[in-house]
Amino acid sequence: MYSTDVVKDNFYITASKSGLESSEIAALKRSIPERVNLKQLKKNESIRLVVGKKSGKSRIVAYKLSAGKSEYTAYRISDSAFYKLDDNIAKVNMAYPKPASARLSSTFNPARVNPVSGKVSPHNGIDYSMPMKTRVVSVIGGTVTKAEYNKTMGYFVEVSGKAGIKTRYLHLNKILVKKGQQVKSGASIALSGNSGRSSGPHLHYELLINDKPVNSLAFRPQKAGLSKLEQHAYAHMQEYEQYLD
Ligand SMILES: [Zn+2]
Repeated sequence: MYSTDVVKDNFYITASKSGLESSEIAALKRSIPERVNLKQLKKNESIRLVVGKKSGKSRIVAYKLSAGKSEYTAYRISDSAFYKLDDNIAKVNMAYPKPASARLSSTFNPARVNPVSGKVSPHNGIDYSMPMKTRVVSVIGGTVTKAEYNKTMGYFVEVSGKAGIKTRYLHLNKILVKKGQQVKSGASIALSGNSGRSSGPHLHYELLINDKPVNSLAFRPQKAGLSKLEQHAYAHMQEYEQYLD
């Protein structure tokens, strides 16, 4: 599986270079808005395709269409149809938006064993190593329910959102918000640090759902009342989304 470069101008040229048959192009054409002219994309329009193989033939399995301010992603659900994600079931990414200077240094592990004591000491979050005083942003919009110091967690912030979702940011250098404050997703809430029980500058990020720690990197939203079709589309997203960014 691979993704094409972002297609601008004439879509058909890229499609044929990718070895796509006309039936594939027709399936795609049926699923995009009529106002988008694939032969002559406008300046603010572009498409990126994810192409896979089925029975030796190239096949479009997903695509991302940008048209001005609107952008949507569609996933192949049958030979003739794509499934488009609309705003109602917009995909929510609960992973911490890691800055360029950060790398994942420790993963979520509820069964982690402390090498010294031999006891199970769960790692209920994800560690991102980053330089001191890197800007930390809230993953979700919600209310700051904690902004305090703790011997283990150091300076930390907890933001609680809708549907029993909480996020926590630990080992901070400086807290920039107050308890009770409303924050939007993406808002600066702190500067990263090395406070509390921490062996080097990093951010420990936790996602909790109904107070249960969840692996934020594996989290996929499960909305009640999703149809079979929507569930099917969600199942494919995980596989395809890495090719779409
Ligand atoms: Zn940690």
